[in-house]
This record gives sequence, structure tokens and C-alpha cells, in this order.
Amino acid sequence: MGGFKKQIAGFNVERLGNSARAVAVGRHAFNLARDHAQTRKQFGRALCEFQGLQWKFAEMLMRLEAAQLLLMRAAVSAQDGMPSAQDTAIAKLACNEAGFFAANEALQIMGGLGFSEESTAQYCVRRTRGWMIAGGSIEILKNRIAEGIFDRRFSQRSEKAMAAE
Ligand SMILES: Cc1cc2nc3c(=O)[nH]c(=O)nc-3n(C[C@H](O)[C@H](O)[C@H](O)COP(=O)(O)OP(=O)(O)OC[C@H]3O[C@@H](n4cnc5c(N)ncnc54)[C@H](O)[C@@H]3O)c2cc1C
Repeated sequence: MGGFKKQIAGFNVERLGNSARAVAVGRHAFNLARDHAQTRKQFGRALCEFQGLQWKFAEMLMRLEAAQLLLMRAAVSAQDGMPSAQDTAIAKLACNEAGFFAANEALQIMGGLGFSEESTAQYCVRRTRGWMIAGGSIEILKNRIAEGIFDRRFSQRSEKAMAAE
């Protein structure tokens, strides 16, 4: 009994893998942009000397670090190797948003070069964007988090679909 529920709980492990990839790729894009900002010069100054870009880096790092901590919390709190659905949903939402935010900002910091298909930055944007859909879209994760907040299920099915069950 409850075999499907047990099987689907294993999906939370996959979701943490998705979360880890999102943060890792976001960090990679962050590093690319940081290197670029220290060497690329405009108006006779390195890009990293412009406060407008420094603030982008601060925001990217803060979001990546916070998301990674939520990911670690979900992994460390796992019972019998299975992370909780609520911790997992919160971690994946944070990691997906932080990874995409960092990659997108990195592309912007790298300007036309970042947008070029030869740049890894644009690849990072596409990868992190995909993980906001794959393995539980961010909307579905928010639905799951709301169920945890109110401690009840909110069926997404229409009354007609429910009646047919
Ligand atoms: C990069 C990538 C990798 C993937 N890898 C795999 C894989 O390995 N295996 C696999 O089986 N599938 C995979 N998928 C498919 C993925 O699981 C689906 O794309 C995803 O579940 C969304 O389904 P859908 O595309 O049919 O969108 P739809 O279900 O049509 O949803 C469209 C939009 O509506 C939103 N939405 C739907 N229902 C609700 C609701 N109740 N409340 C609020 N918003 C809602 C969704 O979040 C989405 O934004 C992958 C997708 C991507 C982008």
C-alpha cells in the first residue's frame, strides 16, 4: 500500500540534483562575468570599477549563497535518505531562481560577448531557464509550498475531472 507515494518521494532526490545543477551553472556564469569584469575596460576603467556592476555581483552572490544553504538544509534534513517534499520544493525554487538570475545578470555584464552563441554565458542562461520548467516547474513548486504553509492539499483538478475518478 502507498507504493506510488513512496516511489514519488524518490523524485525529491532528483529535484535536489536539479537544484544543485542550477546553482552550479549560475556560479559558473558568475565566475565568467567576474573574470570578464576585471579585464574588460570601458571609459578607460575596468568594468569591475563601476558601482552599477559591483551591485549586480553582490546581488548575484547573495542569492546564490542563500539558495545553496536551502539546498544543503534539504539534503542534511533528509530522513532515511529521502528529503522532505516541502524542504525540497523551497530549495528547488530558490536554486532555480538564483541560478537563472545569476546567469542572466552575467550575460548582461558581458554585453554583446555574453549574448554571442560562442559564449558559455548564454548557454548558462538557457540551461538554468530550462530547470525552472523541468522536474517540477516553479509554479508547481509554489503550489506545493502553499500546501505546506496551510497544511492541506489544494487539488488542481477541475470538478469534472474529480467526478470522473
Ligand atoms: C530542460 C528540460 C528538461 C526536461 N527533462 C525531462 C525529463 O528528463 N523527463 C521528463 O519526463 N520530462 C522532462 N521535461 C519535461 C517537463 O517535465 C515538462 O515540460 C514540465 O512538467 C511542464 O509540462 P509542460 O511542458 O507540458 O507544460 P504545461 O503542463 O502545459 O504547463 C505550462 C505552464 O503552466 C504552468 N502550470 C501548469 N499547471 C499549473 C497549475 N496547476 N498552477 C500553476 N501553473 C501551472 C506550468 O508551470 C507551466 O509554466 C523537461 C523539460 C525541460 C524544459
